[in-house]
Amino acid sequence: MSLPRLRTVLDTMPSYQPSEGVYASERRPRLLSANESPHQPLSGITEAIARAGATVNRYPDPGCAALTRSLARTHGIDEDRIVVGAGSVALLQTLFQAIADPGAEVVHAWPSFELYPVLAELAGVTCVPVPLTDGTHDLRTMADRITPRTRLVVVCNPNNPTGTVADPDELARFIARIPPTCLVALDEAYFEYVRSPAVTNGLEYGLAHPNIVVLRTFSKAYGLAGLRVGYLVGDARVTRRLRKAGLAYAVSAVAQHAAVEALVLQEQLMRRVDDTVAERTRVREALLRDGWAIPASEANFLWLPLGEDAAAFGQWCTHQGIAVRAFPGEGVRVTVGSREDNDVFLTAAATWRTTRPWAVAPRARTEHGTGEE
Ligand SMILES: *Cc1c(COP(=O)(O)O)cnc(C)c1O
Repeated sequence: MSLPRLRTVLDTMPSYQPSEGVYASERRPRLLSANESPHQPLSGITEAIARAGATVNRYPDPGCAALTRSLARTHGIDEDRIVVGAGSVALLQTLFQAIADPGAEVVHAWPSFELYPVLAELAGVTCVPVPLTDGTHDLRTMADRITPRTRLVVVCNPNNPTGTVADPDELARFIARIPPTCLVALDEAYFEYVRSPAVTNGLEYGLAHPNIVVLRTFSKAYGLAGLRVGYLVGDARVTRRLRKAGLAYAVSAVAQHAAVEALVLQEQLMRRVDDTVAERTRVREALLRDGWAIPASEANFLWLPLGEDAAAFGQWCTHQGIAVRAFPGEGVRVTVGSREDNDVFLTAAATWRTTRPWAVAPRARTEHGTGEE
């Protein structure tokens, strides 16, 4: 029997796989798989959500004016440089659609954020993945891979899933090599967790170069993953056109009001981020003491470069009631969560190591794998 004809890419492209058993199971596991904040929303935020909830018979403001104004004030930039979207993934989708002329290519690192190839292929953009070297973006090779077909380069900084950051001098040299007709997206979903003073604040580039856009989100440090709201900062001549490519009314009034309130409560929320950063250090040091090789992370997660043992370790964690993110053949990403959840994870990791000590030896080709074979 013939089936309706859909685009062939839908048969061939990868689909985003949520971690096993997180949303359906009766016994919810400890959620260390999606880099969410472990903290429930502050009461000011739940109150803003309730107030906005009373208006949902009306459409939201499609221009997100109040939130755009708050963001402009927070960053000291013009409002017309900002585009708000239903999570930064919606803005990434808009970006891919905005560059998707026939034959368009995107250069991105790999392993990096799993949705880049999904959104690119869906938009008809060809991916040019460039393997990480020593767990970080190989910016020189990424620049080498740019051709007249390249319309977008994505740099995830800090990188998901490794937590590593781009060297600022290398990033500056890289940006200097990008043709002005090619967009660069700096995905800074974890910017608020960065503590190394040497890390580039992409906004400085986004304000200085018309071909650079910066993506930020309320999902991670601001604890609003469930509401879907993020934003992009770029040149006004670019953002004006990107706004046309986005879906109107995609950001709910609930999300808009909660995000405005999150900016009001920023100081309190950033103290929570400080706690997560302290836990990041504690968990990493415990893992290092146990003999794991864990790259320094500037985000709210750690990367365990397990190579071929990644999937088995992921299953082991599932059996221990912990959801982590396994990248088969590469490694496992674990979110820095509450102190209690982190301790349960540390116990699970230590048990794995003592019962399967051979599993931790670095037998992958390179410490972090390349993702292309
Ligand atoms: C979590 C994440 C996002 C997605 O954020 P949303 O705003 O929730 O859509 C974007 N980029 C990277 C690298 C992420 O890890």
